[in-house]
Parts: sequence; C-alpha cells; structure tokens
Amino acid sequence: MSVRQTKTKSLILESLQKSKQAISHETIQHELEGHVDRATIYRVLNRFCEEGIVHRVVGDDGKQYFAICLNCAEQHHQHNHFHFRCISCGKVECLQQEIALNLPKGYKAQNFNGVVSGYCDLCTRTDK
Ligand SMILES: [Zn+2]
Ligand SMILES: [Zn+2]
Ligand SMILES: [Zn+2]
Repeated sequence: MSVRQTKTKSLILESLQKSKQAISHETIQHELEGHVDRATIYRVLNRFCEEGIVHRVVGDDGKQYFAICLNCAEQHHQHNHFHFRCISCGKVECLQQEIALNLPKGYKAQNFNGVVSGYCDLCTRTDK
C-alpha cells in the first residue's frame, strides 16, 4: 500500500472513530473535503469490514452506514445490537443495549443487524 493510501485509511478511520454514530460514505467524503474519491472510500470501508474494524448497517432508508466495531475480530463480527435511525435529524446510532433474540431451537446468532427508525431523544425533546 502506498503512503497516500495509508494516509487515506487513517483519515477515514479517524472520522469513523470521531463520530459517535454510524456514518454514510457521503459523510466521510464530506469530512475529507472531497480529497478522496468515492471508489477509494468504498474500498477502504469494505476492507475495514473484512478486518472486523467496522460494520455495515443498511438502514430502513436503503442507505449504507458504517460504524466502528467494539468487540469484533478479523472475519468474525459479533453483533447483537439494534441500530436506530432518527427520521427527524437523520442520525444512525448503534444502540449499546444487547438484544436477546428468540430464535428457533438449534439456531445460534452470530451477527444481528436490525434497524429501528423513529425519533431520537434529542428530537423527541425539541419537538415539544
Ligand atoms: Zn463488527
Ligand atoms: Zn434525532
Ligand atoms: Zn452497530
């Protein structure tokens, strides 16, 4: 990997870490002020997913969002949290509460990628 690519990787990782929520590639592109093209951002994000650094969230709006993984290892994602998309402010969050899934006997969950949409705590507060 070239120096430039390594720098791009760390910049993208930085914006994901800085963000307390799941962000879309558009947001990342915006944060990098257009210095990095779309294809490169996608490639880096896919790599991060494979490495267990980042997970992909497909929102109920059909868009992809990316969030930092807390306890994942390479090729081995382990998630049991919901994602929440606020239909008012548009943020997508990883909810840290663990979800107990009620699966049929003999099934073992490895990765859970559910999205709930609604209004976040800030938006329910200011709506009043
Ligand atoms: Zn993960
Ligand atoms: Zn909101
Ligand atoms: Zn998540």
